[in-house]
Amino acid sequence: RTLFNDIDLLPPDSLFNIKQRLSQDSRPVKVDLGIGAYRDDNGKPWVLPSVREAEKVIQKDPSYNHEYLGIGGLTSLTQGAAKVLLGDDNKALKEKRVVSVQSLSGTGALHMAARFFTKFCGDKLVYLSDPTWANHNAIFETMGLKTATYPYWDPATKSLNLKGYLSAIESAPKGSIFVLHACAHNPTGLDPNQEQWASILDAIIKKDHIVLFDSAYQGFASGDLDRDAFAVRLGLEKLAEVSPIFICQSFAKNVGMYGERAGCFHIVLPRQDQSVSIENVKDAINSQLAKITRSELSNPPAYGAKIVSTVLNDEQLTEQWHKDMVTMSSRIIKMRHQLRDNLVKLHTPGNWDHIVGQTGMFSYTGLSPEMVKRLEKEHAVYLVGSGRASIAGLNSGNVEYVAKAINEVVN
Ligand code: PLP
Repeated sequence: RTLFNDIDLLPPDSLFNIKQRLSQDSRPVKVDLGIGAYRDDNGKPWVLPSVREAEKVIQKDPSYNHEYLGIGGLTSLTQGAAKVLLGDDNKALKEKRVVSVQSLSGTGALHMAARFFTKFCGDKLVYLSDPTWANHNAIFETMGLKTATYPYWDPATKSLNLKGYLSAIESAPKGSIFVLHACAHNPTGLDPNQEQWASILDAIIKKDHIVLFDSAYQGFASGDLDRDAFAVRLGLEKLAEVSPIFICQSFAKNVGMYGERAGCFHIVLPRQDQSVSIENVKDAINSQLAKITRSELSNPPAYGAKIVSTVLNDEQLTEQWHKDMVTMSSRIIKMRHQLRDNLVKLHTPGNWDHIVGQTGMFSYTGLSPEMVKRLEKEHAVYLVGSGRASIAGLNSGNVEYVAKAINEVVN
């Protein structure tokens, strides 16, 4: 009976705790800039029209059921997902160098990567950007992997610390694992430009490091799947002769499947010489991934997978989905502009151009933890202590209010 009496009480998850505080807040006007989930211009969750259509298609199908999927997931999803990520006529796909399995959304894919690393290269250091999505640390450390950081955000210039980034790559032990945000970096909203990506990847190759791309926002950032996949595809090209690439893919944001946990984990193998049977290597990898899934989930969730697969494999629905991503990304971009313009109009001290320069769901506003606290206490505007604001929480009804609140706490 006393066995667990002394276990530590852990602090609540900072992000989900915001949600709780917000729901208990009885003030009439409150703004949620915490959780990274899309909201429409009325501040409501948005079911994508392509998803609504896909659901109708699924339920009309006479073979509709809730049977288990196979351990590797729904093949029509994993194959369609690989094409979305790598591009229709990608060489790695044509050369059959890609292993793809379904995962429990992006988090599950990262966990699967961590399990895989623990088993086959557990001594390697995992390098995460400073700052990064808080769950990255938790996922890799829970699996017993050691993490380190590479410089990323330069607070003084609110831009990429490329010099620090490259020198961390250079000084990391050979063959370390580098976790790279494919696009729409969380929390900063700041991505390397194309030239910077090339130098980052070249530096990584020089030190035989392993690349893990975390792709949680493809198409959500710019509205264009290909544009948002630039870094992943450049990495594939550059590493094609060198080493495998690991990619964790989430459909939470770009298909709005947040709670349905639809995602994939891909390993793209390099070209091998004739003496190696790539089929054998792929079979072995697949068997290891299946073992991980079997012992943890038995098999991945079906409903969200069917929805995404239907969207990806029907030309009209795919077209609608592309429009949906433009709807989401352009509303967010519009809100970035309105927030910046309102702050400028109010003569709020400081330069706010970074808000429009950043991309994806978030803006790293540069507001201090004290200012964030005041925003919540005095104005019921909720964001995380780091000053990260989920721009999707802004809408034409509250953006002016938020700008005034920021103006008040900055002054
Ligand atoms: N990676 C990053 C950088 C994220 O921001 C998120 C979600 O916020 C994820 C991965 C995974 O999300 P999910 O598990 O909901 O797909």
